[in-house]
Amino acid sequence: MNEQKNIQKFLEQQKTLFGNELFLNKIGQIDKNNSPLFTDKDRKRDLDQFCNSISLCKECELGNTRNNFVFGTGDSNADLMLVGEAPGEKEDCEGEPFVGRAGKLLDKILRAINKNRKKGVYITNVLKCRPPNNRDPLPSEVSKCEPYLLKQITMIQPKLIVALGRISGKTLLKKDIPLKNMREMIHNYHGIPLKVTYHPAALLRNPNFKKYAWEDFQWVRDYLAN
Ligand code: URA
Repeated sequence: MNEQKNIQKFLEQQKTLFGNELFLNKIGQIDKNNSPLFTDKDRKRDLDQFCNSISLCKECELGNTRNNFVFGTGDSNADLMLVGEAPGEKEDCEGEPFVGRAGKLLDKILRAINKNRKKGVYITNVLKCRPPNNRDPLPSEVSKCEPYLLKQITMIQPKLIVALGRISGKTLLKKDIPLKNMREMIHNYHGIPLKVTYHPAALLRNPNFKKYAWEDFQWVRDYLAN
């Protein structure tokens, strides 16, 4: 009943503002920051429900080898969504993305742009289950798992997606080009701006890349501030 009232109120507000035209943003969604329809609590509840509904997934072989389904973590109202490639060993054990050494570095980077995984940021992966020996995701696994990511994006409605690493970028953009080229432009992922940057594990292996990653995250900080 409450929901019906909210819908009516929202539509009346829209009519006052825009007349008979109804403006939807992105993938046919209502603007989350200006809508009385979705509170942070609703979004969190819906995400939790969605997680529960898919956490026993066996759509691909990885469902038989995982220890934990790694759905994602963070602020369900986030403006920034970070997407890695797939859970690693530690993430598979703990059921949370980016909790190993690379994750610690990621947390540091986020702190440097005044964010953290509880406020303003949501972190997930293209694949929700660990591939054996951390091999690259197979196209068949991506095609089963990517719809889950799309649904998360629809629910969270971030202003910006950052793909962490070449594999995540290549998988989402369906383009096999060097990371350097992917970094050069802002892409469009189902209506949402997407930037590709270095994977934190690559920064641990090669600290020379850190200055480029820092440029990218400064850009992210400034983009989100506008
Ligand atoms: N690497 C990823 O791409 N994702 C994780 O969650 C951890 C490491």
